[in-house]
Amino acid sequence: MAETVELPGRLAILPFWNKVLLPGAVIRIRCTSPSSVKLVEQELWQKEKKGLIGVLPVKGSEDAIVGSLLFSGIGSDSWEQGRKGEPIATGVFHKQDAKRPRELAHWHSRGVAAKALHLSQEVDKPSGRVIYIVVLEGLCRFNVQELSARGIYYVAHISSLDLSSAELEQAEQDPDFISLSRQFKATAMELISLLEQMHKLEGKKRFLLDTIPVHRLADILVASFEISFEEQLSMLDSVDLKVRFSKAMELVDKHIQSIRVAEKITQKVEGQLSKSQKEFLLKQQMRAIKEELGDNDDGEDDVAALERKMQNAGMPPNIWKLAQRELRRLKKMQPQQPGYNSSCVYLELLADLPWQKVSEEPELDLKAAKVSLDRDHYGLLKVKQRIIEYLAVRKLKPDARGPVLCFVGPPGVGKTSLASSIASVLSRKFIRISLGGVKDEADIRGHRRTYIGSMPGRLIDGLKRVTVSNPVMLLDEIDKTGSDVRGDPASALLEVLDPEQNKTFNDHYLNVPFDLSKVIFVATANRVQPIPPPLLDRMEVIELLGYTPEEKLKIALKHLIPRVLEQHGLSSQFLQIPEGIVKLIIQRYTREAGVRNLERNLAALARAAAVKVAEKDYMVQLGKDNHPKTSLMNTRLVDASEVEMEVIPLTINSQGISNSFSSASVMVIDEAMLEKVLGPPRFDEKETADRVATPGIVVGLVWTTFGGDVQIIEATAMVGKGDLHLTGQLGDVIKESAHIALTWVRARAADLNLSTAGDISLLEKQDIHIHFPAGAVPKDGPSAGITLVTALVSLFSQRKVRADTAMTGEMTLRGLVLPVGGIKDKVLAANRYGIKRIILPERNSKDLAEVPSAILAGMEILLVKRIEDVLEHAFEGASPSKPASKL
Ligand code: ADP
Repeated sequence: MAETVELPGRLAILPFWNKVLLPGAVIRIRCTSPSSVKLVEQELWQKEKKGLIGVLPVKGSEDAIVGSLLFSGIGSDSWEQGRKGEPIATGVFHKQDAKRPRELAHWHSRGVAAKALHLSQEVDKPSGRVIYIVVLEGLCRFNVQELSARGIYYVAHISSLDLSSAELEQAEQDPDFISLSRQFKATAMELISLLEQMHKLEGKKRFLLDTIPVHRLADILVASFEISFEEQLSMLDSVDLKVRFSKAMELVDKHIQSIRVAEKITQKVEGQLSKSQKEFLLKQQMRAIKEELGDNDDGEDDVAALERKMQNAGMPPNIWKLAQRELRRLKKMQPQQPGYNSSCVYLELLADLPWQKVSEEPELDLKAAKVSLDRDHYGLLKVKQRIIEYLAVRKLKPDARGPVLCFVGPPGVGKTSLASSIASVLSRKFIRISLGGVKDEADIRGHRRTYIGSMPGRLIDGLKRVTVSNPVMLLDEIDKTGSDVRGDPASALLEVLDPEQNKTFNDHYLNVPFDLSKVIFVATANRVQPIPPPLLDRMEVIELLGYTPEEKLKIALKHLIPRVLEQHGLSSQFLQIPEGIVKLIIQRYTREAGVRNLERNLAALARAAAVKVAEKDYMVQLGKDNHPKTSLMNTRLVDASEVEMEVIPLTINSQGISNSFSSASVMVIDEAMLEKVLGPPRFDEKETADRVATPGIVVGLVWTTFGGDVQIIEATAMVGKGDLHLTGQLGDVIKESAHIALTWVRARAADLNLSTAGDISLLEKQDIHIHFPAGAVPKDGPSAGITLVTALVSLFSQRKVRADTAMTGEMTLRGLVLPVGGIKDKVLAANRYGIKRIILPERNSKDLAEVPSAILAGMEILLVKRIEDVLEHAFEGASPSKPASKL
């Protein structure tokens, strides 16, 4: 059974770098160095019968020794393990120079005799030298007795370390040997089964155990897996069979453990991988099942639904092409993929936009339109007339590029509701786009789709919501757009409002042109000034004034109260607000130019009534149910069989109930109730009179975005250095007005009899402080000039200004009074505050034509040219000034 190898006494030696060839193992070596090429040529190639050579392990740092030996023309060879699929490593062998005995210290004293299984010759490409590829099989261990040089390679005197057949047979009788060999076989079996299990090879390697002698098996098995150089050496050195079995068992065991650990890790990773694979498979199966069941509720069907929607959207051909391209891209994506959602949202928008859809516009009946406008809005005659004109032109020439109407006026005067009336008259849908505070151009034009979270601009979004391409679109608060680093929304609006350009409006998100030409644009603004001139140029401004108290009363009675009642599910049967009470609300609770707060207060009353009515309603219903039936039921309880049903005539009963219901629920608002619901009055008619009770306080008239308003100016003086302090969030222009006023008063002090009042000079040793109350509201503008002078003169002369007088006007340093803006709003504001006299610059007299005559009738308007005239009118009795000196 055990075959032994006959070794010659001398063998050519091939050094094997940091590697050991064990008996039974096969290696493949590329012999490229001159010494190894020579060795192969002389010892193997030229011999007819392929000969034997000795392979000797060499240990140490490859580089150091190769470096030191290269000069002698000896280089390195590369070797490959003979088994398929094993990695190729490099090894080096050297010629031992007689002058360098040191190097031999790295040469191991034991090696393995190897038989050449295969030899081939090649030409090395760059150098053109001949090299050899040698396949060697390890046969048996030997001991090196003496090394000597043969040309440029080594030969050694050796002695075999393998047992002879007789010795082997004898050793196999040893019980220790037997038990060790059995143990080893068991371990080997374990390794082999593990490998077979891993590689799914049924019993293919197992036959090795039976065919190969057990002492060879140890070497073969250990050579089949990666172990360290030291372990390989110790295996080579295990000449004694029992020691070899123990060593091999130890190494095989170690290898089994490492395989198991590696397998565990692989299983873990595979588990994770297969989880996602499993999910994918399950999803596929689910889709198939759903298809079978005809259930459309999954991602793919969403896409199909989207496609159907897109087909019905009526997109123009070029846009349809683009949409299809995007859809094709979407179909190729997985729903989890980034970009899938944004692509979906984009296509949804394309499908939702009203490319063709319009509201049908019946023939416009101008008379009916007029009636409808009158029904919804009180007064506003000029405005309504202008709207009718606009509609008439549209009727005659539907595609006329008329101007864009822009309603300008304080809040709550009906700008929005007029625009929505236009829509209802034209039977078009109405959409309001709020532009207040829009500073980013992207709000109008949209963000490009490359941005995360990008979306279309407000116009395209509005059109998507309104679902038709010809709505009336209200651009609300167009004066409140601003520009900053993010672009200028006004310039985008220019394109929107330009009939030449808006046919192909380009929203950055949409990225395809959309036709806005069918949209009727209407704009609103509080003031004209902030609107950029090019934008203003595209619009026709229609100004709406604030309302007089009388107008507010009529609006309240005719429009607001019925609307508020209806909104709260009430009728005049439940809530009555007498005219006197409405007047009180107007006087005491609102001081606005419009009617929004008035409407809000009326709504508060309606809510209070609704609570009462709802409570009473419950009580009356309880009574209705209980009263007649309780007696009946009581009787029935006494003796059910004898009871005759009492028939209550339905008419009488229901009338009774409804009477009790209405009389119990009607709520007539009186003053006490008003205060209970709305709280104590917020404004007082005598408020201005009370505040102007001391010298230095004057009533001015100002103009704000909320319309005209009354501004009380307070001036006071204290000992100081003649400085002027100004407070109340004032702008530069108003501060300059204050300085002009002070300069003028100082210059005219003598004329005004101011300089010698008391012991100290009023003008020089005093600091003056002027305050504009409502300190939190910023104020600016030149129109407070004459008011400031009046306040200073009043302060220094210690004379009170008339409480019923308000004023507005700019003043020059020389005392001329210049005209100011917003006269009608200011007059209306004065009227709201119960002011009866107004001092105005003479050159503003033309503006008075715009003020309703009913208001003017109840007022004294004093037109002035110079500041002396102002002072003349402002004070009780005569003016503090002497007759004005002519300049
Ligand atoms: P604006 O847009 O000017 O701020 P709105 O159009 O929103 O004001 O008007 C506020 C409320 O006042 C609305 O309910 C509106 O119907 C009502 N309103 C304003 N003016 C009139 C009017 N002349 N006639 C009837 N109701 C009016």
